[in-house]
Amino acid sequence: MRMQAAVLWEPGAHVDVREVELEPPHAGEALVKIAACGVCASDLHVVDGDLPEPLPIVLGHEASGVVAAIGPGVERLRPGDHVVLALVPCCGECASCRAGRRNFCELGAAMASTGTLADGTSRLSADGAQLHHFNSVSSFAEYAVVPESVAVPIRRDVSLETAALVGCAVLTGYGGVARTANIEEGATVAVWGCGGVGLNVVQAARLAGAGAIVAVDTRPEKLALAERLGATAGIQVTAGADAVAGVRALAGGDGVDYAFEAIGRSETIRSAWESLRPGGTAVVLGLPPKGSTLTVDTWGFINEKTLRGSFLGSADIDADVPRIVDLYHSGELRLDELVSSRLPLAELPEAFERLRRGEVLRQLVVFP
Ligand SMILES: [Zn+2]
Ligand SMILES: [Zn+2]
Repeated sequence: MRMQAAVLWEPGAHVDVREVELEPPHAGEALVKIAACGVCASDLHVVDGDLPEPLPIVLGHEASGVVAAIGPGVERLRPGDHVVLALVPCCGECASCRAGRRNFCELGAAMASTGTLADGTSRLSADGAQLHHFNSVSSFAEYAVVPESVAVPIRRDVSLETAALVGCAVLTGYGGVARTANIEEGATVAVWGCGGVGLNVVQAARLAGAGAIVAVDTRPEKLALAERLGATAGIQVTAGADAVAGVRALAGGDGVDYAFEAIGRSETIRSAWESLRPGGTAVVLGLPPKGSTLTVDTWGFINEKTLRGSFLGSADIDADVPRIVDLYHSGELRLDELVSSRLPLAELPEAFERLRRGEVLRQLVVFP
């Protein structure tokens, strides 16, 4: 079929919203009519060349939609199902899958690095040129052909558009707290960066019964929203001010039990590390530019601090997507407040500009 999609031909170029060709699903794949796709910093990293991907590529990975058709052998999906797409395909058979670490599936990793689906081919092309899939989702498009394993069915009585956020920002923020760190009730928490991921860290920390939740950001409106969603204090980062000292003071002087970094910059990872109390854990949720390096004060290791990575919030998507959608339905997790605007696919280039300037939360590309 022919459809509109956002293609990146080379890093640094404008995304090209244009007509492309999409083949029907092969065995184990589903055709999904996309309802909405969030504009995530990871897409921007690809556009800017900070995250090398096989090009040309159809961008977009934080999406929701309705199953339109299924390929041979697909069992858990039916046409008409509402689904959230989460970017971690799994084969169920490799060492990582058998160990319950599906986010590190060997087949999924191969698909992500080659920009293809499980059989090593692509369903996407433009004027005869093959286009690559982005993490087997490629959802800045009217339709996507995806592996069955990345499409998680959800209840139908929530906003399908808003549910798109679950596929990346919410899994990452909520999972970072509930899965990667698995914080204790009463723990003190700092959140460095209050965008789409950080605001879900704030909410998950509140749901986990954190004792203090200190939000840190450069923008006052994001701090105000963080406080509405459960942060007990906010610190605005300004030139010359010592935000680390501010966090430590608010946490009783010696720092927080958990610091979550939700930006992906060496400077804020170091600040998160320095804001910890002895024995504390810093979790990096942001995506740093590939190849960037980090310097930290090694004395923290004598104090038994831990520096942890996290990919998609260490999520088990089949369990966590429905659980998160239930929390959204019950009002315990507020997601509509995180959507700063809804826009058509044609306005994606401008949306990337706004994200680059840091002036927005989550922008949602919606499809009629
Ligand atoms: Zn993302
Ligand atoms: Zn696997």
